[in-house]
Amino acid sequence: MSRIVGIDLGTTNSLVAVVDSGIPMVLADKDGSRLTPSVVHYPAGDAPPVVGHAANRIRVLEPADTVYSVKRFMGRRGAEVSVQERRVTYAVEGEAAGPVTFRMRDRALTPEDVSAEVLRKLKADAEAALGEPVTRAVITVPAYFNDAQRNATKRAGELAGFTVERIVNEPTAAALAYGLDKLKEHSRVAVYDLGGGTFDLSILELNQGVFQVLSTHGNTCLGGDDLDRRLMDFLIDSIRMAGGPDLTEPSTGIPTEPGATTGGDAAAEAKGLSPVGTERLVMLSRLREAAEQAKIRLSSEEAVEVSLPFLTPRFSFTYRLTRVELERLTREILLQTRAHCLRSLADAKLEAKDLDQVILVGGQTRMPLVRRLAAEWFGCAEPGAGGARGKPVLNTSQNPDEAVALGAAIQAEILDGGFKHLLLLDVTPLSLGIETFGGLMNVIIPRNSTIPIKAGEMFTTAVDNQRSVLIHVLQGERERARDNWSLGKFELEFAPAPKGVPRVGVQFEIDADGILHVLARDIATGRQVVVPMRSAVDVDDAEVQRMVEESVEHAFDDLRARQWIEAKLRASETVVATRKGLTECHADLEPAYRVSVEAALGRVEEALATEDTRTKVGDVARLIAANAALDEATRALADLMMDKAMEALLRQRGMIS
Ligand code: AMP
Repeated sequence: MSRIVGIDLGTTNSLVAVVDSGIPMVLADKDGSRLTPSVVHYPAGDAPPVVGHAANRIRVLEPADTVYSVKRFMGRRGAEVSVQERRVTYAVEGEAAGPVTFRMRDRALTPEDVSAEVLRKLKADAEAALGEPVTRAVITVPAYFNDAQRNATKRAGELAGFTVERIVNEPTAAALAYGLDKLKEHSRVAVYDLGGGTFDLSILELNQGVFQVLSTHGNTCLGGDDLDRRLMDFLIDSIRMAGGPDLTEPSTGIPTEPGATTGGDAAAEAKGLSPVGTERLVMLSRLREAAEQAKIRLSSEEAVEVSLPFLTPRFSFTYRLTRVELERLTREILLQTRAHCLRSLADAKLEAKDLDQVILVGGQTRMPLVRRLAAEWFGCAEPGAGGARGKPVLNTSQNPDEAVALGAAIQAEILDGGFKHLLLLDVTPLSLGIETFGGLMNVIIPRNSTIPIKAGEMFTTAVDNQRSVLIHVLQGERERARDNWSLGKFELEFAPAPKGVPRVGVQFEIDADGILHVLARDIATGRQVVVPMRSAVDVDDAEVQRMVEESVEHAFDDLRARQWIEAKLRASETVVATRKGLTECHADLEPAYRVSVEAALGRVEEALATEDTRTKVGDVARLIAANAALDEATRALADLMMDKAMEALLRQRGMIS
């Protein structure tokens, strides 16, 4: 069965995406373009419809036979379509309860027919990019779409040859693309979606891993195009004042979209264009393109040159436009989105402070002013910054014009039974820790811990006057360091001190991307080193399985090895301390007592000597018993050493002579 693609069927642009090897990606068409304008041109005769960028270019010259913004008409009846929505350059038919149709030459087309053309192109592009047939799709729709609108979208998909596996809400898809399904239960997210032609603000709540739309509010005729038009008006005035052609619409004095009419029979009007009219349309088209480009560039630059050479044979136009000026011109349009935000919050019976995140979707949200305004209205700490307590985070981490398509692809992959391994991304597939004395693995983050996660432990030195410690980071389930995978090593230096005195804090933090950051800090001085390791979760499934199986298979041997190493470390410490005591207290000890301690020491050394040179493990039970016997035998010696130490201390402080 073919894989399922995710489709963002947008008002202005449409995209198709797929999850490939666990990575969601937008597919490009043969020209390398990832955005397909949702525009369809119907040529004369039997020629097939032209879709996308090519149709967008023809639109200027043949506006009456080119359909754009068809999404506004999906599943709607004539009576439901407002006068403003009918202000397009092609003829919209359908009255009262009748369905909306478009007259293209001698044919009446439904919105589904037109959308199906866009979907057919996306299907063909996806097949070309993937090199295999694509027959199944998840398609997104605005959250406010009613049943009729959703069904019309589904029908368009079917007309294009897709089995439509699911219709998904756009804000939900966007939230998936932002990875917000990993937020805690009942998290609330506002999705501010400002595209080319529409705006909506939806509020979602995460319930048992599923996003529920609490409210949605918007305007189907408000978007980036309005900003372009505002800028065009301004440039038209500037051109006229600079002695250039007057491009204001002749009859109304209002400059409009190329070919747009304020009513009447748009098709007839558009068809009756004089050559002068065509020239004007071409100029307006150039101007519109220049205005949009300037607007887009001003999202990353402070000022740009709007340049229209040879607008007429004798007039060229240039203008230096600043971001400040663009913001002044368009601010009022953007302010209109605020009422919808407030309304959506009120409908959800929430206040901005109840939100966890605000995400931005739609190409127009790249504009810095949009980000500033959204941050201000929702009381976010700083655009792009982490939120303070009680303030939502303005999350701009994803590409706003691709988020919906990527989310649709993620939903498609989930429906396809994929992303099983991605679930592993939520947890650590193997334990993470560091090597400690004797070559043991000390686990800091156990296997299957949910990420992101932070955990730490305190360590000390095993040798007097040690100047540094080597932090050896390990991953795996085995008891001995050497049987696990080494993720990296680094050193932390500190001032020399007797063994056991330095305190070294080691903290492991795995971020949401699965990257492990290891921090080691000398508690005395605060000196610290932080080292990012490679991904702690992106591990081959087969390797993980092998590691886990080996840990089960060797469980008994591993346990014995750990017990041996721990007993050996203890034995070495006691042997050294006992020898020191025997020397220091020699004169105070009964010869018979000394002999009994020497014998106990001898038995520990014999037990230590049982270590196999190959496995590095000896007779654990014998060593543990010998250690216990030595402890017992040295109790009197330990008391004596303690008394002597106390005496020395009191003398040092002048409390005894
Ligand atoms: P969409 O419907 O999401 O594809 O958004 C398209 C709208 O986003 C158009 O009005 C574009 O001009 C606008 N747009 C795309 N990129 C940018 C950008 N970098 N800065 C401002 N607007 C942009």
